[in-house]
Amino acid sequence: MTEIAELEQLIRKYALLNAVHHDGKAEIEPVIGKLLAERPDLRQIVKELPPCVIKVVKEVNKLSIVEQTRELERNWPEARIEEKAKPEAKILPPLRNIEKYEKVITRFSPNPDCILHLGTARAIILSREYARMYKGEFYLRFEDTDPKTKKPVLEFYDAIREDLAWLGCRWDAEFIQSDRIPTYYEYIEKLLRNGHAYICTCNPIKFRTLIIKGKPCPCRDMPPQDQLARWEKMLDGTFREGKAVVRVKTDLDHPNPAVRDWPAFRIIDTKRYPHPRTGDKYRVWPLYNFACGLDDHLMGITHIIRGKEHLTNEERQRYMYKYFGWNYPETIHYGRLKVIGAVLSKSKIRAGVEDGVFSGYDDPRLATFKALRRRGITPEAIQKMMLDIGPKTVDVVISWENLYAYNRKILDPTANRYFFVESPIPLTVAQVSKAYKSEIPLHPSYRERGNRVFNIKPVKKMASFLISSNDLKTLKRGKVIRLMELFNITVQKAAKRGVEAVFHSEAYSEARRLGAPLIHWLPTRNCVETRVVMPDASVVKGYAEDSCRKLKTGTCIQFERFGFVRIDQAGEPLTVYYAHP
Ligand SMILES: [Zn+2]
Repeated sequence: MTEIAELEQLIRKYALLNAVHHDGKAEIEPVIGKLLAERPDLRQIVKELPPCVIKVVKEVNKLSIVEQTRELERNWPEARIEEKAKPEAKILPPLRNIEKYEKVITRFSPNPDCILHLGTARAIILSREYARMYKGEFYLRFEDTDPKTKKPVLEFYDAIREDLAWLGCRWDAEFIQSDRIPTYYEYIEKLLRNGHAYICTCNPIKFRTLIIKGKPCPCRDMPPQDQLARWEKMLDGTFREGKAVVRVKTDLDHPNPAVRDWPAFRIIDTKRYPHPRTGDKYRVWPLYNFACGLDDHLMGITHIIRGKEHLTNEERQRYMYKYFGWNYPETIHYGRLKVIGAVLSKSKIRAGVEDGVFSGYDDPRLATFKALRRRGITPEAIQKMMLDIGPKTVDVVISWENLYAYNRKILDPTANRYFFVESPIPLTVAQVSKAYKSEIPLHPSYRERGNRVFNIKPVKKMASFLISSNDLKTLKRGKVIRLMELFNITVQKAAKRGVEAVFHSEAYSEARRLGAPLIHWLPTRNCVETRVVMPDASVVKGYAEDSCRKLKTGTCIQFERFGFVRIDQAGEPLTVYYAHP
C-alpha cells in the first residue's frame, strides 16, 4: 500500500468510528485529533491533512450507520472494542519523576478509629489508580498508634479491608503500625544519639511560650547521653503520662511555629487506655508525623497522594528525612472535597452511632461506604466520580445529586423495572368487557430479558387495582387516564378512600391524542407488601408487584416512577433501600 493510501485508510477508520458514535455523521476536527494521537509524526504535515480528511469524512457520511458499523467491524474489529472500552478509562494526570524510581508505590493509611466514608474515597481511589497506571504497588497501612484520643477499634480494621475490597481497590501489602513499635524506637534512638531529637519535660504552656518566641527550652541542649537516659525513663515508667515528650529538632525560627521542634513520641498510660491489639505492652507511642514519615521511607513509598491539610506535615517530616539522609517521596496534595449534606466527620459519625441517633454504621443518612453499599450506590460510580475529580489542588464541592448521576448511568442499564405503589388506594374500573394480559418488559432497552406478566380478569365487568394516593391529584372527575401498558379509563369519582372509573379505550395512541397522563398500578391480588427505607431513614410503605417475590437480596432494581432501590431483605414483606430517583 502506498503511503497515501495507507493514510487514507487510517483516516477512514477514525471517520467511521466518529460517525458511528454521532448518529452516522463524522466531524473533521475529532478525526484529525485521533489521527495525530496515533501518528504524532503527521504533525509535520498537519496543514496538508484537512483536505484529505474532508474528502474521507464526506464519503463516510454518505453511508448509512449500518453500513458504517459493518465496515468498521469487518476491517477494524479491534478499534471497535477499544472504542467501547475507552470512555470508561479516565486518565489521571501523570505522576512526577517516575523515572527516579524502579516501581511506583502508593499507600492508603487510615486510622482504624472509625469506619471509612465518601470523604476518604479520593485518597484510596487515586492512590490505587496511580499504582495501577504505572504497574506499581498499592499498600494498606493501618495507622493505629494513638490508643487514647483516637483509639483504634478492632472491628474497624476488618471493616476497612472490606470497604477497600468492595471499592475494587485490592492492596499488594498490608502493614499495621502497632506491630512496628520496636522499629520506631530504633530510629528515634538514632536521632537522640545524634542530637537531632531531645526529650522535653517542660510544662506544655511554658514550652509553647518559648517556642513561639523561637527560643529553646532547657531540655533541648542537654547532651545525647542525658537524652538517652531520659528516654529510658520514658520507657520504664519513671516518667508518667504527660510528663515527657520526644521532640525532633527543627529551625527554631521556622516561619510556622507549629513546625518548630515537633513532637515525635509521647507517653500513654496503657494500663488505663489499653491498645486494642497490644494492650499495655507499650507505653511510649510515636505520634503521627514520626510513624507516618518513617514508614513512608522504610516501605519505599514513592508517591504520596493526600489532602493539602498535610502540607505542614511534609515540612515537619522533611527535617527527619534530612537527618537520616533520605529523599522525601513525591507528593500530590489535592484540595478539599466537600459533599453537601453529608456528615463526613468521624467523631460525629461515631457519636451518632454510639448514642443511637443512627441505627448503625450503615444508617442511610450516613455517607459511609457501608451505608452507600446498602442503598445501592455502586463502587463503580464512586470510582468514576473520584477519577473525574482527580488530584486537582482547588477545593471541590459536590452534591449527592452528582453521585446519583454517576450511579444512575451504571444502574440504568442493569436495573430491571417493576411496579411499586406507594401509600396505595383502591381503583375499580367498570365496563371492562374482557380479560387482559399485560406483558411489560423487565427493561425497555433489553427486551431479551423477558417480561413481567399481569393478568386482569374482570368480575362482572369490574376490574380492581391498587394505585398510589400520590396520583390522586391528577385524577379529576371526567378526566381520561392511561393505566401504563394496559388501557385508558375515565375517572368518575376520586377520593382518598378510593377511585372509581369506567373503561375508556385500549390504544395508547388514544391516550396520547387526549393527552392522558400515565399512572402505574397493580392488580389487587398477589402484591408484595413492601417497605422502602428512604435516605432520611423514614419508611415509605406500599406494595410491589408479584414478580418482586423472586428478587434476591442485594439486587438493584427500579420502581417505575419512583426510583432506584436495592433489595435489602428479600421475601415478604420486602424491604428495600432507596438509592435515588
Ligand atoms: Zn523542655
